[in-house]
Amino acid sequence: MFEVLVTGGAGYIGSHTCVSLLDAGFSVVIADDLSNSKFEAISRIRSITGNKVTFYPYDVTDEIELEKIFTRHSIRCVVHFAGKKAVGESVEMPLEYYRTNLLSTISLTRVMKRHNVKNIVFSSSATVYGNSKKVPYSETAPTGNCTNPYAWTKWMNERILTDVHRSDPDWSVILLRYFNPVGAHPSGQIGEDPLGIPNNLFPYVTQVAVGKLDRLPIFGSDYPTKDGTGVRDFIHVMDLAEGHVSAVRKCIQDYGVHAINLGSGKGYSVLEVLHAFEEATGKEIPHYFCPRREGDVAVSYASTKKAAQELRWRAQRDLREMCQDAWNWQKLNPLGY
Ligand code: UDP
Repeated sequence: MFEVLVTGGAGYIGSHTCVSLLDAGFSVVIADDLSNSKFEAISRIRSITGNKVTFYPYDVTDEIELEKIFTRHSIRCVVHFAGKKAVGESVEMPLEYYRTNLLSTISLTRVMKRHNVKNIVFSSSATVYGNSKKVPYSETAPTGNCTNPYAWTKWMNERILTDVHRSDPDWSVILLRYFNPVGAHPSGQIGEDPLGIPNNLFPYVTQVAVGKLDRLPIFGSDYPTKDGTGVRDFIHVMDLAEGHVSAVRKCIQDYGVHAINLGSGKGYSVLEVLHAFEEATGKEIPHYFCPRREGDVAVSYASTKKAAQELRWRAQRDLREMCQDAWNWQKLNPLGY
């Protein structure tokens, strides 16, 4: 069996994707410098799947280190997650974001090319749709007009990979545009482990539930939505992970560049999430309303047609399961890994 290299495989989405790839029978090699993740995630991937996973603590911007991996292994496809991911931080330190997120893709594809490996699945984001107003977002919607450097790095990486394919049509590039991944593996062994105070809704809610934080701030109560709070497309991280398995299968059989949304296609408001969480876990979530957060849009959710057609994949797990699994992970790991 050929091997799949997962960059950033110790991270939140990366670790769940490794589990799904291993469950599907792929051999997995992980490269992750652990700059924003823990080695414990690798141990837990191994214990959940009972599989060997080869791990390299390498920085993916470093071509010399990448060379070693491609020389030692017969990599057939790369799933590229490694990168910085905090929107707010990207506004404060744009150069760090452009350096890490662009250089990792450039170094990786240069090494891939030298080793004649031309299949890549890239971890992109619905933020590439920027201020696009029309929901649901379909892949043909205009991109660009991004509201922060993080989103621009995703957009620019999509551009780079598209141009790589244009220069050599043997490349197979799949750009996966994620909506809002939440939840955790049902074992509660791996999950989202943010450093410091979480920026995202779900980890904030679970940390309030476990008593680490007092109250959830709700950003905005005057959006033109059913209850005034923002609406997002939450997708269970295991559904997302399985979407990557389908993408890898397509990538190795196909050529071209395909941008595909990974979302549930459903929009839930912040208050709906809060109530679903309370119902699924029996925990009360104290909260308060505050002004809108800068850069947030009112409503975002995916058109899921292309994913169904091209990947034969659809999200299966509902909001209740997302809440239960997020809570299970937090309860079993109150301090993270
Ligand atoms: N949100 C909130 N309180 C928080 C974190 C997020 O009200 O502490 C809201 C946010 O304004 C947005 C939604 O929850 O409407 C999802 O935000 P998140 O940061 O999780 O994901 P985003 O859609 O921004 O990528």
